[in-house]
Amino acid sequence: MPELPEVTTIVRILKPKILNKQIESIDVFYRRLILNEDLDNFKNILINSSIDDIFNIGKFIIIKLNNNYRLIVHLRMEGKLFFFENQNDLPERKYSDSCLIKFKDGSYLLYNDTRKFGIFKLESVDEGNSILNNLGIDLFNYNSEQFDKLLKLKNKSSHNVKQFITDQHIILGIGNIYADEILFKTKIAPFKTTKEISDDDFLKLIENAKVILKLAIDNKGSTISTYHPNFNEEGKFQNFLKIYDKKGEKCPVCGDIIEKRFLNSRGTSFCPTCQNIKKTISITGPIGCGKSTVLDIFKNLGFDILSLDTVVHTIYKQKQFIKQTANYFPSIIINEQIDKKTLIEKLKNPAFKKDFQNFLYPKLKDYVNNYLNKNYYKNVVVEVPLLFESNMDSLFSYNIGVISENQENLIKQRDVDYKEKLELNKNILFYKNQHKLDFIIENNGSLDELENKVKDLIRKLHL
Ligand SMILES: [Zn+2]
Repeated sequence: MPELPEVTTIVRILKPKILNKQIESIDVFYRRLILNEDLDNFKNILINSSIDDIFNIGKFIIIKLNNNYRLIVHLRMEGKLFFFENQNDLPERKYSDSCLIKFKDGSYLLYNDTRKFGIFKLESVDEGNSILNNLGIDLFNYNSEQFDKLLKLKNKSSHNVKQFITDQHIILGIGNIYADEILFKTKIAPFKTTKEISDDDFLKLIENAKVILKLAIDNKGSTISTYHPNFNEEGKFQNFLKIYDKKGEKCPVCGDIIEKRFLNSRGTSFCPTCQNIKKTISITGPIGCGKSTVLDIFKNLGFDILSLDTVVHTIYKQKQFIKQTANYFPSIIINEQIDKKTLIEKLKNPAFKKDFQNFLYPKLKDYVNNYLNKNYYKNVVVEVPLLFESNMDSLFSYNIGVISENQENLIKQRDVDYKEKLELNKNILFYKNQHKLDFIIENNGSLDELENKVKDLIRKLHL
């Protein structure tokens, strides 16, 4: 998605090419691109007008005309504007081409959008109901009154800081990539609420935002998957990215390992040490190896703990979850609740089991992800029996496996249906993925020995 630096670059490239040019004709290939209701009127106003100026406010591109109108363009996900000197340069029309403007000198401006989310809106310059109303503060052009308002908003808001600075109604032009970079440079945890951030730190954050956005603009933005500033040109800012999408790499400042979780549904990369975010641990392993005992030891040593069993119980009671389950698996809903007996019966069918797990696991993962975000200032230990099945291994700083030679005996002592449990144990992905774990605790001795092993690990990890 083009962010402010990319949009600014596009405007800079286009400006010398289209300034003062007079529009001869417009072809609209995708009607929904144009927000104006009357397409003929839209065309009539544009045809014969000439371009007085082109600039951007945040991610909005404003093409100012000489007839008191302005054409506002938002590229959204994958919109692109291309300029062609003459008809010979014009490529063959593609399905993704949405609009073509021809100038009187024979040159063209083509709008192409594979996702078709972009918009064009033609407005009179004194339109009261402009789509540019209620936009956030422009970091490169604001007055003290606007800034005071921003500070007040910051002190009132209970949103996390990343959500706050990427809200285009609050601050213009900071998107996902640059938000991660700005927060890293300012050493602020993205999960913190803005209220918790001092005014001084927030001022630093704003200064860093300006520095990073300016550097990105000077380097023509970042070339990332879908965005290219020009046909034959690449953005260079990706070479300056320090944290964005660098999960598993070493932090360039302190050498700690960069982590990534989801925040407001956007991938969010951070350095635990620089941004003061506590480490997280998963405990996994087959049934009957002592995972819960290890979790209890962590708890007694003062760690915050969470067990996936608890998460499952919580989720099963959520109205939203019951509603979704009723949609996909109506047979397990009785009296508007999940009927556990029926569910257990149904899970014996491998096809049902797979289907249900595909439905359930992403929700468990979201829950755990959000729990870790909310408790970013605590060392959290989570017992996740089916860590690899649920793809949760990517969430934690460290994944720890617990294995035991006494597994079978433990299960036999504990469970009446032990044969089933032993069978289940054979099929878990744990064994195939054991090499991906950061540590293995062998639980073959006494409780004291196990406790000492956990304490050793805590020391080794500097927790
Ligand atoms: Zn660091």
